[in-house]
Amino acid sequence: MADSGVAIGLVLPDVLGTYSDGGNAQVLQRRLQWRGIPATVIDLRHDDAIPASLDVYLLGGGEDDAQALAVDHLRTHPGLQRAAAQGAVVFGVCAGFQVLGTEFTTSDRTTHTGLGLLNATTTPGRRRAIGEIIVDVAPPVGPEPLTGFENHLGRTRVGAGSRPIGTVRAGVGNGDGSEGAATGRVLGTYLHGPVLARNPALADLMLGWALGGPPAALDLPEVTALRAERLRAAKHGRGK
Ligand code: GLN
Repeated sequence: MADSGVAIGLVLPDVLGTYSDGGNAQVLQRRLQWRGIPATVIDLRHDDAIPASLDVYLLGGGEDDAQALAVDHLRTHPGLQRAAAQGAVVFGVCAGFQVLGTEFTTSDRTTHTGLGLLNATTTPGRRRAIGEIIVDVAPPVGPEPLTGFENHLGRTRVGAGSRPIGTVRAGVGNGDGSEGAATGRVLGTYLHGPVLARNPALADLMLGWALGGPPAALDLPEVTALRAERLRAAKHGRGK
């Protein structure tokens, strides 16, 4: 972390911005600022260079064509891969998750090589998974379950060297009962929401990695209320 605080890169918000996952950057920034720690969000658009010097990199969801464009761009501008090799925190949601994996096949049956930061391979499923999702997670991500909203066709197989983030209680996730993938400080998940607004423990886990130690506790009753509401919605099959 530089003296100017935590640098959070929002990767290709102009390409992978369909599902408002850019809100994850705002959540991380605000959770740091509420603790008196400076934080900057840097948009890394398609015309911008991708510096390897940031602390956290966030990728959001998008349509198949958008994610194909994103992976081509990121493979030819490898700042993100260099940063990950140096220990930066990397977090991808849905299309962003698939892009971080080894390869993904889009619904037109084209297979794209991913960034290989996660051992995760994605192929199209038979039906689109849409709706509220609850994921049981063990520490350090848990013990509280993750809540989110999923909207994807892809099904993902996690291979050696990566492990799923958790087990699906309600919803589809990777499609085999598991959800997401992690290797070191690189995480991928199918959960939109934005997921870090709904799951502060996940946000603080990543901030702890960036800061070199767990951040101070924050008590935000509105976040607790939002979690309770979304858990109820998933239980009753609403919010679809
Ligand atoms: N296009 C991908 C899929 O359908 C990702 C969708 C998304 O990012 N929500 O699997």
